[in-house]
Amino acid sequence: MPETRPYNFSAGPAAIPDEVLRQAADEMLDWHGSGIGVMEMSHRGSHFGSIISQAESDLRELWAVPSDYAVLFMQGGALAHNALVPLNLSRGAKADYVLTGSWSRKSRNEAARYCDVQVAADNADAPGSIPPRAAWRLRDDAQYLHYCVNETIDGVEFAAPPADVGVPLVADVSSMVLSRPFEVAAHGCLYAGAQKNVGPAGLTLVIVRRDLLGHALPACPSALDYSVVAANGSMFNTPPTYAIYIAGLVFQWLKRQREGALGGIEAVAARNAAKAALLYDCIDTSALYVNRVDAACRSRMNVPFHLRDENLNAAFLDGAQSRGLLQLKGHKSVGGMRASIYNAMPLAGVRALVDYMRAFERDPVGAQRAECAS
Ligand SMILES: *Cc1c(COP(=O)(O)O)cnc(C)c1O
Repeated sequence: MPETRPYNFSAGPAAIPDEVLRQAADEMLDWHGSGIGVMEMSHRGSHFGSIISQAESDLRELWAVPSDYAVLFMQGGALAHNALVPLNLSRGAKADYVLTGSWSRKSRNEAARYCDVQVAADNADAPGSIPPRAAWRLRDDAQYLHYCVNETIDGVEFAAPPADVGVPLVADVSSMVLSRPFEVAAHGCLYAGAQKNVGPAGLTLVIVRRDLLGHALPACPSALDYSVVAANGSMFNTPPTYAIYIAGLVFQWLKRQREGALGGIEAVAARNAAKAALLYDCIDTSALYVNRVDAACRSRMNVPFHLRDENLNAAFLDGAQSRGLLQLKGHKSVGGMRASIYNAMPLAGVRALVDYMRAFERDPVGAQRAECAS
């Protein structure tokens, strides 16, 4: 195995901590003396039983999930849950949606197939901002209000959950889950595809307040009915066992993190804040790079930026690649660049990116040619 790896800025599937991958590699053929690997185990056996219950209790501890919430290990990705949320929680009635970027727009469009959807707020006229809470149109008889905490493509993040909405809040937390302490109890339901900040694709986390369960529409498949999945401990059918195992290793890794006096999620959040500050400062003090998101709602996880001279894009990406700074190309819908700096990205990775960005700005040709010294 390589001693060091390049820095991977992919938006998802994204980097997984080296320590986790090395442990998984060590345990690939023989998990804890069982003689078999995790991929080969019955999901109903005691070995996997201990893996999933440890993962659930670590997740509950890390994000302070109250006991009246069910934690579900499901499949389908966030986009399937764009349908499963209304199928499980809308009662076929009303649901309101806040639109702050590409992912919440997709959520709204999908939900409209299953219930009466109203747009509560929309930043289409002012991309990169969050419409002021006072201007939102809310229905007090809506079953829930949906928003996306961190828009992975647009780089727009809610610093705090919307206040005083009067109905259960439902949030897509795919690209910020476990990146900082979070007010789980202010929400009725959270869902996240794992492949951004938790582990491999194929696992979707759902955290849902139990009193909201039991009202799935008849068309909702049993295997995707949150109340059925909850009643069966995520084992109504075979869950994505290997992805759950890796997620569990990531949770253990998160619990081990230390930053000064801080531990666990607080340590990770402090590091994430430092990483984001470093990168935005580099962009804001530059004449070449620009990020157009309002300072108050800039994402700490996904930093999209453009080069003012778009003709330099290919040279920028080539130079980055040759220095071991990978997958910085922006989403096709917005172009430019995007640096995703999830939990697994160390501060040193962001420092290396910022050093390269400054060098490239001073001398695009030289920086593109220079090989990484290390
Ligand atoms: C990546 C992402 C999605 C899509 O997730 P899939 O797992 O591909 O369905 C949805 N919402 C957000 C916020 C995302 O970051």
